[in-house]
Amino acid sequence: MTLGTKTVEGSRDGALRTKMLERDSETLLKVELADAHCHLDLIHDSALIEDAIAYGVNTMITNGVDTASNIRSVGLADGKHIFAALGIDPEHAMLASEDELNFNVGMIRSSASKIMAIGEIGLDYREAQSDSEKDWQKRVFETFLGVAEELHLPVSVHSRDALDDVIKMVSAHNPERTHIHFFEGDVKQVKEIEALGCMISVPPFESGKRSRAIKEIGLERIMAESDSPVAGATPRDVEKAVRNVASLKGISFERAAEALTRNTKSFFNINRIGLRF
Ligand SMILES: [Zn+2]
Repeated sequence: MTLGTKTVEGSRDGALRTKMLERDSETLLKVELADAHCHLDLIHDSALIEDAIAYGVNTMITNGVDTASNIRSVGLADGKHIFAALGIDPEHAMLASEDELNFNVGMIRSSASKIMAIGEIGLDYREAQSDSEKDWQKRVFETFLGVAEELHLPVSVHSRDALDDVIKMVSAHNPERTHIHFFEGDVKQVKEIEALGCMISVPPFESGKRSRAIKEIGLERIMAESDSPVAGATPRDVEKAVRNVASLKGISFERAAEALTRNTKSFFNINRIGLRF
């Protein structure tokens, strides 16, 4: 792990760099963290990403949501700290044509040796109003679940107000490689997910419902995410998610960090043979 000043050299934001250089080394994490779900292509100041790496967030899975962000996400992947997942999320799926869907499937196939997962994909019934919009979201989701199976890649799933349908559709594929990001389900649903062998990841925010679910699922089924910059500000916010899991499970921050980082690296098969960047 590179701590200290080395990785921030050359960053554009002078003020932030000065602040980072001045940081007392005591404030840096002594454990390694992994961010299971973020959108680094939307963080326009690369110094913030360099800062997260220097802080100890050594592994980040950046997710594409449409054609442009998929292209940017593959470009950001370095095989060292930043790894890409490509997909079309349900919100952007509603704007995508059949041609765009096919184009992205082609991009995923041709990028298979440098991506770790298919994501962000899923269902969002707060966005889809009509049955036809829901049907199209399901079509797009189903297509990507099929591509994931074909390429033996895990999936990073977005579910909002749609978890029962998500669980149903995932069960028909290869559920052990499924991760429900920003988990918002209840205790019954988290038990179903655990029984299927799926994983959940938890964001840097607490909610009573999510806390109850986290208590009910094994530590080996949990990952932490920042969902930055959409939810957290930067990947450093993954630390808050880990601290929350640690307190709900009654274990130390270090132990939770070690377990969640291991889960994330193993789920995304970070050390996969044959990766090319
Ligand atoms: Zn996301």
